[in-house]
Amino acid sequence: MLTAFIKPNAKMDQYGKVAGLSAIELPVWLMLFAQSVPGSVVVDMEAEGLDHAGLVARLGSLKAGRAVVLATGSHPSAHVQQAEAAQAVRRVVGEALGITTEIHDRLPFDPLKAGQLDLARVPMVKYRAHNWHGWGRDDLAYGATFASISCPFHCDFCCVKDFYGSGYRQRDPGAVVEDVRALVENGVTNIKMMDELFAIDNPGVHAVCDGLAASGLADRLNIWAYARIDTVTPVLLKKMRAAGIRWLAYGIESGNEAIRAGAAKGAFTNARVRDVVAMTKAAGIHVVGNFMFGFWEDDSVTMRQTLDLAKELACEYANFYCVTAYPGSRFYDEMKARGVDLPAAGAEYAQMSPRFKPVPSAKLSGRDILAFRDAAFMEYFTDAQYLAMMARSFGDGTVAGIRAMTKIKIRG
Ligand code: SF4
Repeated sequence: MLTAFIKPNAKMDQYGKVAGLSAIELPVWLMLFAQSVPGSVVVDMEAEGLDHAGLVARLGSLKAGRAVVLATGSHPSAHVQQAEAAQAVRRVVGEALGITTEIHDRLPFDPLKAGQLDLARVPMVKYRAHNWHGWGRDDLAYGATFASISCPFHCDFCCVKDFYGSGYRQRDPGAVVEDVRALVENGVTNIKMMDELFAIDNPGVHAVCDGLAASGLADRLNIWAYARIDTVTPVLLKKMRAAGIRWLAYGIESGNEAIRAGAAKGAFTNARVRDVVAMTKAAGIHVVGNFMFGFWEDDSVTMRQTLDLAKELACEYANFYCVTAYPGSRFYDEMKARGVDLPAAGAEYAQMSPRFKPVPSAKLSGRDILAFRDAAFMEYFTDAQYLAMMARSFGDGTVAGIRAMTKIKIRG
């Protein structure tokens, strides 16, 4: 009996009108899970552009007798958003083909024991990098690998441990280099290092960087990875750049130090944020700044502080999110205890979805916070100084792409 491992297509629900700018990501966890079942097949509905009718036809032609869905994207919060899509797959294939679908919304295997990624299981040409990741590059061919699972930190709004069912553990550095080599052999140099937090100054991360630097591949690589303001050092940054890491995403979260410290994101100061962003740029690595609006203590003054800090830092890309209470996080429990009306449906957790349901702060409604977030995005990406910097760094083509991005109205 053939088992089909299915990635549902929740793209439009999750991203709405900006779906075309978002990445189509290699389903790494699904692929590794499938590799444990000989003769199984991976059906990536998103990459293959399959709707439910297409899925039914595909499973019928494969004569599949069992279906497995991992209700997750590359980020653990996506498992909340994808739950509905997984249920829809179960309903459709059950009704049309009488096939039972097993749904997992937590990792049901140990990725550190799963071996190398078998890229032949998926249509590699269909994967596409985020728009910003491809700035200044000729192509958007995209892949991913990982060097660790889970995270050694404990931020209130984060649910990564719930997803992995594990604390922070690192993979064999040689396996990471071999995954990257296989991706390059498949024509992919834009790569996501999927680790929840890759840039930690520890021997395992140094070994991965040293391995990539010694592989002869690094000059071609355009890797992005997550970092924290309090986990990078000048030596590590230099090593990461030599390993082909060209973008680091930092969770800066708030421009207000008290609010940032309250979210257990770290007691680092704005001065430290400025230093680390400058240090990262000086190492030749572009910065993605991640900022959040709508912490419980946030009001219009503190949210403005956050936007002002983002503009001052002049990150090459900035993600602006509304704080969201994901089940499994401490913040979710706190909001529930406060009696806040929390999202119920998967798409209500999706930041760019028209159905996104933002949660309130003590002083502001969810709707006000969302309006500020949307306005902040426009203010940041239409700023003349920012656009001039981007023209110098990436050229006029990138600036034209950014201008086109700001013409998209997320809502309405
Ligand atoms: S550092 Fe990032 S991944 Fe780790 S707990 Fe905090 S938010 Fe989650």
